[in-house]
Amino acid sequence: MPIIDCHVHLNYYSNIQKTKRIPSLKDRLIELLETMSNNKIDYSLILTSYKFDSERPSTSQIIDILKNKDYKLGIVAGFTIDNHNDEDFRKCRDWLKDGLIKGIKLYCGYEYYYPYDKKYQRIYDLCIEYKVPVMLHTGDTFSPTSKVRFAHPLNIDDIAVDNPELIIIMCHIGNPWLLDCQEILYKNKNVYADISGLVIGNFTLYAQRYYSYKIKEILSYLEMPHRLLYGSDWPISNMKSYIKFVDKLKLTKQSHDLLLFKNSSNVFRL
Ligand SMILES: [Zn+2]
Repeated sequence: MPIIDCHVHLNYYSNIQKTKRIPSLKDRLIELLETMSNNKIDYSLILTSYKFDSERPSTSQIIDILKNKDYKLGIVAGFTIDNHNDEDFRKCRDWLKDGLIKGIKLYCGYEYYYPYDKKYQRIYDLCIEYKVPVMLHTGDTFSPTSKVRFAHPLNIDDIAVDNPELIIIMCHIGNPWLLDCQEILYKNKNVYADISGLVIGNFTLYAQRYYSYKIKEILSYLEMPHRLLYGSDWPISNMKSYIKFVDKLKLTKQSHDLLLFKNSSNVFRL
């Protein structure tokens, strides 16, 4: 069974990557492809950010660098509520129409809006129209200036109920609010969650045990087929360590295939 990593970045994180200079986008892409190949990852989705600068390439830049290449890579476009204009929204629609992006990612917490804020509705409508998932940041943020109340997984319930046709992916299983994430998943069949970004770098023995227990608890609470997706959050989390973490979960074949391939393949229509 192939493996899909539904959550990687080509951003450069100076606080953890600590190289002498910022590597070029091309170098980061090569590193991603090498890391995927070393870990037998067949396909990855690159998530762009809510802001674009020398460390965070824009969606257009990623589209350009992947153009006419046969890489097993897809794009989920980050969207900013604070800094977009109508032209940005139109561009997003065109990318969806042309099949250049597989979904849209929103950064609640990094931007100070609840997922059910009316400002987001036209993004949800767009995702429904093009039958693509919206990915929402949930849980702890990688930035001290974010406000986590906007990223609490319980907020997802409102949009799941009010938009029954919308496919929603909670990123990071709402970590550390895994129990709340579990309830949202249990209650709302249009909600999925990716298990990315639970650690920075490698899993320690403690993290391995802790998250293994928590993920198994979520899986036993949900009816099958479950709605968890494999994602690493590379380069924040180490890809090799993540695959090892999943191997050690010792999932049933059905559960394993859903997590590593089938759920992503279905929701992103890969
Ligand atoms: Zn991420």
